[in-house]
Amino acid sequence: MIGISSTTLLVVAVVVLIVAVVIVLLAVRSRSRGGATPAAPVRTGPASPTAIVCPFCKREYEPAETDRRCPGCGAAAPRGR
Ligand SMILES: [Zn+2]
Repeated sequence: MIGISSTTLLVVAVVVLIVAVVIVLLAVRSRSRGGATPAAPVRTGPASPTAIVCPFCKREYEPAETDRRCPGCGAAAPRGR
């Protein structure tokens, strides 16, 4: 006597697949919305409070460490608040 039939395995596989699809859909939706984080009014989100993101090449850097110049493209750092 077999406890798990092939039908049960199929149902479990389908349920797992549906759950995976739902998780992916939720992740894509929350990512595409982009408005989930109300903390930052600007869309740039540097990890460090003093770090900035270059508006030209999108590189994140510390202006104090690079003499207020982007290490990627050499553009001057944008004026902060
Ligand atoms: Zn740059």
